Amino acid sequence: MSAASALDVERVARVLGEVVPAGAALHEPEFAGNEWTYVKDCLDSGWVSSAGAYVDRFEGMLADFTGAGHAVATVNGTAALHACLVLAGTEPGDEVIVPALTFVATANAVSYCGAHPHFADSEARTLGLDPAKLEAHLDDVAEAGDGGCRNTLTGRPIRAVICMHTFGHPVDLDPLAEVCARFGLTLIEDAAESLGSYYKGRHTGLWGRMSILSFNGNKTVTTGGGGAILTNDAQLAEAARHLTTTARQPHRWECAHDRVGYNYRLPNINAAMGCAQLEQLPGFLERKRRLAETYRTALAGAEGLRFFTEPDFARSNYWLNAVLLDPGLADRRDAVLAACDDGGITTRPAWTPMHRLKMYEHCPRMDLGTAEDLSRRLIALPSSPRLAAPAHG
Ligand SMILES: *Cc1c(COP(=O)(O)O)cnc(C)c1O
Repeated sequence: MSAASALDVERVARVLGEVVPAGAALHEPEFAGNEWTYVKDCLDSGWVSSAGAYVDRFEGMLADFTGAGHAVATVNGTAALHACLVLAGTEPGDEVIVPALTFVATANAVSYCGAHPHFADSEARTLGLDPAKLEAHLDDVAEAGDGGCRNTLTGRPIRAVICMHTFGHPVDLDPLAEVCARFGLTLIEDAAESLGSYYKGRHTGLWGRMSILSFNGNKTVTTGGGGAILTNDAQLAEAARHLTTTARQPHRWECAHDRVGYNYRLPNINAAMGCAQLEQLPGFLERKRRLAETYRTALAGAEGLRFFTEPDFARSNYWLNAVLLDPGLADRRDAVLAACDDGGITTRPAWTPMHRLKMYEHCPRMDLGTAEDLSRRLIALPSSPRLAAPAHG
């Protein structure tokens, strides 16, 4: 039997239907902890806005959980990325390396600086930036000197590299950090999807000079909307705090600002939710891994696709579980999506790669064969912690 005929879409939908109930969303939040208590406390005390004890507490909890030296909470992950790029010295006309296969926020943050995203390919093993391919590309087009790194084809400075941990699976950070160091590029991790994911035993987000998290409603932990910047550099954290609070100069009564800053601070009421959510994070992660294991086992016998598992150097949060259709079966993806939809199972394709979006079609890029291929073969599955079967002792 040929590979193409081995994929039985009805069977795949049936198997998924045995793992998760009909109607399950891709990722739903869960508020079974102290959310109501802490939010009520904000309302009762009047501290709902951009100052308040929960913001400090949330930042402390984030630093504790991840092991980062400092965490600065922001209104959302996109704003955090924008602030990181400003802090990295990104100027209008610069280029920033971004994976082609990512959520649009990664590329948009570059545009907010008036800079150009420069798209890089993915690696099938991690679904994230391919360090070897990036190095070969930079060897071809870039020149690193005292003035920084320059794209010899466009004449523009290349300022930074943003990597993204796709669906929570860590990219290969060690070689990536080496490539960045070799070319004098600032590494920023878009860890929006990887809270609770570890690379070689250390939390993601600690390899770059800075990184960001997202607490949007579909992420592992939510504050309604929210984000954070992580860094081990105290001065950088101070600069991040300043930039995201309108660059207001500290003074008892004067209201003065020393640069164009941003109103990117996370409101206290959202941070209150975040504190309650972080208290439950270990439980969320445990159940998410259990769900991933159930999917892996259930799909082990299925032909024509495989359940995507963490690379061997990583411990993933399995933010979004996913299957990867076998090479050559990309044209059956929509049949799988339709069969699942018919059975009431929510499944979603990966993002349209960035260079396929109208506003980014003329951006500089390397060969993007793997990102293209992965984007056509990936299917995300319902992944909420509540979908895990009860643990048995
Ligand atoms: C969720 C997400 C973000 C940030 O999203 P916000 O909604 O702004 O918090 C950034 N990058 C990626 C890859 C994401 O998945």
